[in-house]
Amino acid sequence: MPGGTLSGTGVIDLSLDEKTRALREMARWLGREQLRPLGIECDERHAPLPPDHPFFTTVLELGVGGRGLAGIAGDAQAAEGASPARTSKAARRTVVIAEEIAYWDRGMATTLPGPGLGGAPVALLGTEEQKERLFAPFSDRKKPHWAAFAMSEPGAGSDVARIRTLAREVEGGFELTGEKMFISNGARADWAVVWATIDPALGREGHRAFVVERGTPGFTVTRIEQKMGLAAAELASLSFEAAFVPDRNVLPAREGGFKAAMRTFDITRPMVGAMAVGIGQAAFDETLRLARESGLLTGGAAATVRLRDKLARARRLVDHARLLCWRAAWLADLKRPNSVEASMAKAYAPRAALEAASLGMEVLGAAGARSDRLVEKLFRDVKVLDIVEGTGEIQRLAMARKLLGFSSEAAPEIT
Ligand SMILES: Cc1cc2nc3c(=O)[nH]c(=O)nc-3n(C[C@H](O)[C@H](O)[C@H](O)COP(=O)(O)OP(=O)(O)OC[C@H]3O[C@@H](n4cnc5c(N)ncnc54)[C@H](O)[C@@H]3O)c2cc1C
Repeated sequence: MPGGTLSGTGVIDLSLDEKTRALREMARWLGREQLRPLGIECDERHAPLPPDHPFFTTVLELGVGGRGLAGIAGDAQAAEGASPARTSKAARRTVVIAEEIAYWDRGMATTLPGPGLGGAPVALLGTEEQKERLFAPFSDRKKPHWAAFAMSEPGAGSDVARIRTLAREVEGGFELTGEKMFISNGARADWAVVWATIDPALGREGHRAFVVERGTPGFTVTRIEQKMGLAAAELASLSFEAAFVPDRNVLPAREGGFKAAMRTFDITRPMVGAMAVGIGQAAFDETLRLARESGLLTGGAAATVRLRDKLARARRLVDHARLLCWRAAWLADLKRPNSVEASMAKAYAPRAALEAASLGMEVLGAAGARSDRLVEKLFRDVKVLDIVEGTGEIQRLAMARKLLGFSSEAAPEIT
């Protein structure tokens, strides 16, 4: 297949080990008791929980919020060169847990303490000293810590090759100047991996990753967004005015910064897809409950038969999406190329979840227009998820390019 990376040969291992099952049970308990009610509270207030909310220390005491994604990236790296039998199950474990947590509230899932998306580039590119130093705060079980991944800019969303944040080499490091926007946990992060260019004329070859610590002079948080969905998740705009980054916080430019960013997405997209699966499953369960409660599923009227068909279809789509996420994660665990599979998972899952949530809105009828129904919240949450980590449309373009062998000049450098 021209340019494609569909490498899903072999038998996909769908078994869950004991540790994964135990973690999923814990996530289920935490979700039911805390994530769902707090997520609804944030939705009503249109704001995330403040970083000093007692919830965060409670989850740390429970052992939630360690290295998170960085763990997967690190495991994937450690597995390099290892025989398939010795590779980890970390990516598969993550999609299972991500689905469970997002089932209860995806916005709250993003706000759990940990390095989040910021951890993956440090694990993939960082030196041993950088990993040790930057991840050390996340072992703290008393105080929550976050990190962030800052790529998007006012003029560079889907087409990340257009980032304009400039990194100017100075004595002992670099000075960063530019703007970033829509950065998850950007205002509460201890540090952010900021993608910048050392020379815009170099295009993607000029991209580098810099770790900017909170409190750095010239680095300010300029805005926190109010969103239609995922209210519990913090999205910030960041500004850099000659913000100094010492050499020790410059991530090595192995394989070029741009390629490293793309590899980060290969790891994170199956997980974001799995979060959409979680929302889709929640929407399906709620829709089925509403349909049963309203008596819409009893009898043989044409409308009833049609609703049963629609419900069965929504359930099938959510299941397909789950399998796509598992396949992409399985390939990540085996250290095999998975760009196409990761894009498929990310493109398909929010669509499937949106169909389940739309059906719920249909079943509710006029009541769906009220903002106090869970399905209505899930509908808004999943729409936002279609945008995160590269929009669904962009994933479809990326897949077409790789599966059909278009040249990269024919399309922008898309995330
Ligand atoms: C909840 C949330 C969390 C986020 N977290 C982060 C984060 O932590 N870090 C970070 O860096 N960014 C983050 N983002 C930003 C996100 O990655 C971008 O919003 C996304 O990449 C899309 O960029 P954009 O919004 O500028 O849209 P644009 O790129 O302007 O796209 C607008 C529309 O045009 C379509 N489009 C664009 N180009 C093409 C094309 N060539 N062909 C066809 N259609 C096209 C897109 O599909 C989209 O529908 C987050 C966004 C959200 C909503």
